[in-house]
Amino acid sequence: MPASNRRDAGVGGPQPTRRRRGGDGWSPRVDRRHFLLSTAAVAAAAVAWRPATSLAGITAARAITDPPFTLGVGSGDPLPDRVVLWTRLAPDPLEGGGMAPGDVTVDWEVAADEGFARVVRSGSATAPAAFAHSVHVDVDGLEPDTWYWYRFSVPGFSSPVGRTRTTPANGSAVARMAFGFASCQNYGNGYYTSHTHLAAEPLDVCFHLGDYIYESTGSRIRPVPGGEAQDLLGYRNRYALYRSDTELQAAHHAFPWVVTWDDHEVDNNYADLISENNDPIEAFRTRRAEAYQAWWEHQAVRMPPPVGADLPIYRSTPWGQLGTFYALDTRQYRANQGCGDGIVEPCADNDDPTRTMLGDAQEAWLDGAMRSSDTTWNVVAQSVVMGSTPLGPFINQDQWDGYPFARQRMMDLFARPEVRNPLVLSGDIHASGAGHLLADWDDPDGSPIIGHEVVGTSISSSFPAELVDIFGDLVSALPWAVYANARHRGYVTVELTPESATTRWRVVDTIDEPTSAVRTDFEWTIDAVAAGEPASPGSGPSSAPAGPTGPSPSGAQRPAPAQPVRTQPRFTG
Ligand code: CA
Ligand code: FE
Repeated sequence: MPASNRRDAGVGGPQPTRRRRGGDGWSPRVDRRHFLLSTAAVAAAAVAWRPATSLAGITAARAITDPPFTLGVGSGDPLPDRVVLWTRLAPDPLEGGGMAPGDVTVDWEVAADEGFARVVRSGSATAPAAFAHSVHVDVDGLEPDTWYWYRFSVPGFSSPVGRTRTTPANGSAVARMAFGFASCQNYGNGYYTSHTHLAAEPLDVCFHLGDYIYESTGSRIRPVPGGEAQDLLGYRNRYALYRSDTELQAAHHAFPWVVTWDDHEVDNNYADLISENNDPIEAFRTRRAEAYQAWWEHQAVRMPPPVGADLPIYRSTPWGQLGTFYALDTRQYRANQGCGDGIVEPCADNDDPTRTMLGDAQEAWLDGAMRSSDTTWNVVAQSVVMGSTPLGPFINQDQWDGYPFARQRMMDLFARPEVRNPLVLSGDIHASGAGHLLADWDDPDGSPIIGHEVVGTSISSSFPAELVDIFGDLVSALPWAVYANARHRGYVTVELTPESATTRWRVVDTIDEPTSAVRTDFEWTIDAVAAGEPASPGSGPSSAPAGPTGPSPSGAQRPAPAQPVRTQPRFTG
């Protein structure tokens, strides 16, 4: 994919005045001919990255008269020499954006200091009308392991300033890094009190595990205009509603993000081309294409814009010798949920070894990537709970529990001696949790522990109040579970060193008010093991939980007697 300043230099449209660069005078104006030559050099990828109309159909858009940077800025998919910068011009964000027809040229700057005294990279990029005047700039030529500040501008308006960073050089020694992760941020269900605290955490990067938006209606605390999002305009307006929240913006302005998705970016519990309500396949293919396009338009991701209903998003992010992060897609390729979906007893569907969660291509990619990785940690960022989590006689068919053969292939991969310290991040269930991953779930006493899973609660999506206690009791009684708490909303931070991973579940007191305190509900340290050694001794916790740092009435950290489940739980993650 092209990533040079040259490609981003002004394609048609008004050529903006160049800003002065620190140290080396005026940056060179890159003319149209130079652009076309460099475009030819990078061939098809450049065409794919741009809308088909952009080379032929550039028109000078009307002047922008209202503030266009209503959705803030963001950055993502960092690498040692580059990072993707994002914004979208949307003077009327909840009504389709409010831009006049035609592509627009947007200037961008990257500086080594917050005051922009030392601008190290700058250029212009196209905000294509065909992609909702979103801007994606893959800025290269940056120093590894370095923080930067960035902003966009159009005549008369400058964007907020975002902070971002590159990753350490490949293979370099890294003494420490910290990341966060979040999921399930139903706007209508509550305030983003968690995002304000997340933005203040000293993190290097943050992951979003999905349910970034909810397509559905529902306005318990805040109004959500429009009905269920089902087409391009509906999804765009929904993303714009979420992205207009200044607390979410603060979290994007603070550090780069690596985002994946879950179901609600398209439709509750969809699987591949099967919708929640079993709509006609072709109708849902169109809906998925429009939902994926709106997702791309609103995220700082390094991938060409979607063409049709297929959009490969699984990818890895290196962090020197310390870790590799794998962002997975558990929706686009999965087999339909078994046994009619829902939280039900297992049935014959679950015994079908051909049912997949990731699809063959993604599974093969992950297998190859993890087996060839030589980093200390191998962190798998994905949407749904992987470890066995029976709720009495029932299992959640939407989780890996519903795909036991696919899960066993993951366990077999994690158990390989060359795969070091697998750590799975999960969301979706709107509850916090932690546990060991077992080579053999049918023999928890004898099975080796081959990895660990940390589950983050929701930013603002609800957990059914009547199930909070029973969930805590049932899950914490599982022999491989270390922690469970469905009562609180929040996010998770993880500090990685060559010796250990320390996870902190950060929970807020309320999402019903605009502000809230935050505290650490639970802290868990996992010791890293050397290559070729098992993750921990035969069974039981590999390291003692540090215990909750505050009162946690529902946070059942110790196994409690399981209670029989009389009625079937109903829950939509
Ligand atoms: Ca979900
Ligand atoms: Fe959710």
